Amino acid sequence: MSTSQPARLFSLVPERALAVYAHPDDADVSCGGSLARWGAAGAEVHLVVLTDGGKGSEDPAADSTSLAATRVLEVQAGAAALGIDSVELLGIPDGEVPEAAWLLEQLVERIRRLRPDVVLGHDPTSVFFGSVYVNHRDHRAAGWALLDAVAPASAMPLYFPQAGAAHKVPHVLLSGTMTPDAYVDVSDSIEAKVAAVRCHASQLEDDPEWVSKTVRRRAEEDGRGVGVRFAEGFRHLELDA
Ligand SMILES: [Zn+2]
Repeated sequence: MSTSQPARLFSLVPERALAVYAHPDDADVSCGGSLARWGAAGAEVHLVVLTDGGKGSEDPAADSTSLAATRVLEVQAGAAALGIDSVELLGIPDGEVPEAAWLLEQLVERIRRLRPDVVLGHDPTSVFFGSVYVNHRDHRAAGWALLDAVAPASAMPLYFPQAGAAHKVPHVLLSGTMTPDAYVDVSDSIEAKVAAVRCHASQLEDDPEWVSKTVRRRAEEDGRGVGVRFAEGFRHLELDA
């Protein structure tokens, strides 16, 4: 992905990281290497998946309910491959991430309870990737909900006072971004990322080698600009304390 920002490494190892993504495979694809690296370095790592993934199939005969059941297992297997401490699925129907106060409160409650110093999620400003791909509306809706939850809601005690003590998140890393400016070196965790992505068999091509090659190739491309073998790129927000 091209960047107009100077590329630099994001080398902070968080004490606690929280990833919030729309679909069952999104986190593993977007930031699995970073989560695995930080977990191995002693960070507490938590994942929230908003939807049930029940519409992610091109087979008209696929059954949404059984697809969603399969995807719960795939999320759990992927999280285990990355060494994630907790994974939670909110079970929102695929394609229906709402702009709603109740979702904001759900995210605020988790941010205040888990108190992450790094939060990861979708860049909601990405709409078109070239002329070949329109960013999924759930990615955009999930990204906006997460940003709204981080700033200002979690940080300000009068928002959702019943949802725990206010917490300021210092770092936000947004994936699926048109303007990546911070890269996490995932050279030591690329195998865990590949293993995690391969857990999402119901969403992948039949050939597992193709998956491995694609994951490695993308991470190589991201690593090139910052001089490491494999990386994951993000748009980094460093919020005022
Ligand atoms: Zn997705």
